[in-house]
Parts: sequence; C-alpha cells; structure tokens
Amino acid sequence: MSSKIKGLAIVILLIFVTFSCQQKGETLEKAGIAISFDDHFIDEWYALRPLFQKYDAKVTFFITCGDSLKEDEIEKLKQLEADGHEIGFHGTVHNGRSTDFIEAEGPQKYAEMELIPGMGYMRAAGFAPTSYAHPGGNHNDRVDSVLFAHGFEILRDVAIANRVYKGIPLYSIAPRVMDWIYYAFDKTRTVDALLIDTDSGLTHDDMRDAMQRAADTNTALMLFGHEPLHGGPKAGEYGFDIAFLEKILIEAHARQLQYYTMSELPGL
Ligand SMILES: [Zn+2]
Repeated sequence: MSSKIKGLAIVILLIFVTFSCQQKGETLEKAGIAISFDDHFIDEWYALRPLFQKYDAKVTFFITCGDSLKEDEIEKLKQLEADGHEIGFHGTVHNGRSTDFIEAEGPQKYAEMELIPGMGYMRAAGFAPTSYAHPGGNHNDRVDSVLFAHGFEILRDVAIANRVYKGIPLYSIAPRVMDWIYYAFDKTRTVDALLIDTDSGLTHDDMRDAMQRAADTNTALMLFGHEPLHGGPKAGEYGFDIAFLEKILIEAHARQLQYYTMSELPGL
C-alpha cells in the first residue's frame, strides 16, 4: 500500500470514528420527558410557574378554546410561552366522539365544528398552535388526516395504566412496559401520553421506573394531566396532585432528563 493510500485510509478511519462518537454522544443526550396539560385550567397552570422554574421544566398546554380568550388568559399564556412552554390546541367544543362525528358529517363539518372556530380564537389572541391533543383520546386515521391537513405537527392521544369501571379494575399495566408512551425520536407524529391524574392510580415507584427506562433507552417519557390539585380530587374535579407532579420533576432532575415540548419531538 502506498503511503498516500495509507494516509487516506487513516483519514477516512478518523472521520468514521469521530462521526460515530458524535452520533453516540447525541443519542445519549436525548433521554427526556414531555409533560402536557389538557383543557382550560389556565389560572391553575399559571400558578405552577414557580414549580416549573424551580426545576427548569418546559411543558405543553393543550387549550380547549370554545370562545375567545379573556385578556388575562392571553397574558398568562403569553407569559408561559415566553418561559419556553408550548401552547397547543385541544379542540373548540372538546367533542370526545370525533370519530362518530366525522363518519356521520364528513371531514369538512368536523373541521368546522372542532377546529376552525377555536383555532381562530387562538390566532386572534396571537397563538399559532402546531400540536393537538385529541379530546377524550378519540380519533382514527380520518380524523388525524384532517388535523395534519390543518398544519398540526404532532397529535397526542391518551394512555391509561389502570382502568377501573364502576369500582371494578379492568386492567393494570406498569408504565415501564408501556412501549407506546416513550418517544423513540423516530419522527413519529401520532403519540400517546400517560395520564397522571390521581384517578389513574399511579405510584411514585411507577414513575421512578418509567423515568429510569427513558434514561436507559434514550427515549422521552410522555405524560399528561388536567387540573393541578392540592391533595386528592373533590367531587367533580379531575386532575393530579401537585405534590405528585413535583416528585416527577425531582426524579427527572436526578436522571438529568431533558424537557421537551410536544412539537419539538418529531423534529429531533
Ligand atoms: Zn380534554
């Protein structure tokens, strides 16, 4: 082998080694957590600002927008957005039977009912949501195609670890084995997030194991909840215990998990 060719071979090898190391380094840094919140608890979410700041957490708020946003709601959402959080969309009327509606009325009526008015209110208030959370987790390919056609980058569905019907447990799955709640950075644009509301019956151990899996597999654990509550839900309330959320933020910090907003995920 001439010294010229030998030199070239060494250069190629060096490029290859450097490139592989960089790739490995990049992958390792991706382990993270993507938390979102649904419906219209703008005051209550805003009150969590100090908690998010304490842990440098960035999250996504999926807003149901059945009417124009009030001045103080706009200000609060603007502040949350300026903090680095994402403002997503969660429907105009929050129809949890989108699939039935689109079958009966067609895609145009579905868009006119659930998407166009609310997105108009959001835009008028200065927001341009690029992520969507399905009301009631109800959707199919037809619903998704209308949402993608309206410019959403990522669609979020619901995953539940413990399902109870009239006091009878129907099923129970440990979050660490729910493959579908971990984003693998494979550009997927339809995803599932695990419900962390109190009635989901999750324990601190469940969450610790789930975050460990995200750390071990370089994936992003996707979680979501509704109203922040101090303690357990009272009649008619649905939401998560703020202390439970803080435990999640502490564990995420301990594992150096990165925070992702929902629209960031498919671009990484
Ligand atoms: Zn909802």
